[in-house]
Amino acid sequence: MCLFCKIANHEQDADTIYEDEKIIVLKDINPKAPIHLLIVPKKHINSINELEETDRELTSDMIFLAKKLALKHGISEKGYRLTFNVGRDGGQIIDHIHLHLMGGGKINE
Ligand code: AMP
Ligand code: ZN
Repeated sequence: MCLFCKIANHEQDADTIYEDEKIIVLKDINPKAPIHLLIVPKKHINSINELEETDRELTSDMIFLAKKLALKHGISEKGYRLTFNVGRDGGQIIDHIHLHLMGGGKINE
């Protein structure tokens, strides 16, 4: 089982700030911005490349949750970055789809 599946199954500790039946949100362990959250679906999907038509609602839910969390963390107005890394050239290290939400100050590349 991959790391994010283990975290979603509560078999591995993480700094979880939100959870519902489909999605879990963690604080990134190596933050690249003052606020750096990972929005992770509980369903294992390798990356954007492996998305199926039936994942449309789930991926939309991830984006709407990002919007809500940005508002909650007070970064909506100033702005933030949402990133899906895809594959090694795209900087993806963990092969379980996740949306990065970064903001609250300088975002390190
Ligand atoms: P990516 O490079 O898009 O695959 O992003 C993976 C992210 O997961 C990186 O920003 C890591 O810092 C982060 N990460 C790795 N292990 C953990 C963990 N146990 N808990 C929270 N974040 C993690
Ligand atoms: Zn997984």
